[in-house]
Amino acid sequence: MIYYPINEIFQSIQGEGVFTGTPAIFIRMQGCDVGCSWCDTKNTWCLDYEKKLPDSSYLHQKSDNSDSWTMMSSMEIFKYFSEKNYSPQHVIITGGEPCLYSLLELTDILIGKGYYVQLETSGTREIKVHENVWVTVSPKIGMRGGLVVLPESINRANEIKYPIGKEKHIEDLDCMLKKSNIGNDVQICLQPINQNKNSTKLAIKTCIDRGWRLSVQLHKYIGLK
Ligand code: SF4
Repeated sequence: MIYYPINEIFQSIQGEGVFTGTPAIFIRMQGCDVGCSWCDTKNTWCLDYEKKLPDSSYLHQKSDNSDSWTMMSSMEIFKYFSEKNYSPQHVIITGGEPCLYSLLELTDILIGKGYYVQLETSGTREIKVHENVWVTVSPKIGMRGGLVVLPESINRANEIKYPIGKEKHIEDLDCMLKKSNIGNDVQICLQPINQNKNSTKLAIKTCIDRGWRLSVQLHKYIGLK
């Protein structure tokens, strides 16, 4: 049985990408070495053992954006859903960077229990998940950790969610797409960085021109996490 470092588990509404508006259970993993400058979950970066909680019963006492975490097995994660009476059937594994860990066992169990599973990753690590997992690769701009997005991660994506702030970011995305083998059915979502007005205008125009989707981080507009 594999144990994963878990920052938090909660139910909410998916605010980004293709599944925007979908009720979902979020599993946020601890640990990330990607280093995006505008990251809004910097509390997940460090796996500090002084911040380790004894078990999952402490998770619900945590304040938002806390950098404490606990280890949970795949079965403990599944049982936590029932203990909390979570009702969504859509599970989102996010982080941090969840692909620091092999997610095969966890995704096998959750899919076996009837959940629809989505993974959100930067694409900088090998993706190890059940074949039916919906993979959202979100290549990042200005990764200070010096990591690169792996071509095989882009090719595994069902959805590419790309944060943009200026024209140069669209050119970078075009360049990456040219080098990849993604199918026509892969959804591309542009996400304006930090709800900036000009970025949003640029994203809207590009989505209309190209038939892509707009991802506005709905949760930030309606005050959800
Ligand atoms: S990959 Fe995600 S968690 Fe890691 S730095 Fe970038 S935005 Fe933050």
